[in-house]
Amino acid sequence: MRTRFIADTMLGKLAKWLRVMGFDCHCQSAYRERDVDSLVRQGSIFLSRDKTLTKDYPGSMFIKSNDIGGQLNEVREAGYLISNLSEYFSRCLICNTPLHETSPAEAENKIPEYIFHQNRTGISFCPSCNRYFWPGSHRERMLKKLEEWGIGS
Ligand SMILES: [Zn+2]
Repeated sequence: MRTRFIADTMLGKLAKWLRVMGFDCHCQSAYRERDVDSLVRQGSIFLSRDKTLTKDYPGSMFIKSNDIGGQLNEVREAGYLISNLSEYFSRCLICNTPLHETSPAEAENKIPEYIFHQNRTGISFCPSCNRYFWPGSHRERMLKKLEEWGIGS
C-alpha cells in the first residue's frame, strides 16, 4: 500500500505534484475537523503548514519550505515518497481520482484534434470530473522539474 496524504488548504500545489507522481493526496478548499480526523484515522499522512495543527494528528508532518521543490524534499526525507514511475500520471491532478485508460474511439472528439492525432494511445480519462489527460511535452516538463528538485527516479 502506497502512502496516502491529506494536504491542508495552503498546500494545494504540493497536492498536485504528489498526484503527478501518482500518490493519493486529498486536498479541499476548506476542512471541518472531522474531515481531517477521518482521513488520518484511515492512515493518511496529514501535511500542514500549521505547526499547532500537526500536533493534533499522529503521524502528520509540518511542512516548512515555501517552495514546492523544498516541500517535496521534506516529504521524501521523511521516507514517504517511494517513487514508482509506472504510477506517474495515473491520477487526476485536479480531483485526485484514479484515471481510466480510454480507447482511441472513446477519446476522439473529446480532446483537441491535433492532440488526438499525436497520442492515439495513452489517453486517460477522469471518471469524476470528466477531464481527459494525455502524454506530451507538458509531462516531459513536469518530469524535468521533478528531476531538478532531486525527486523521483
Ligand atoms: Zn478529476
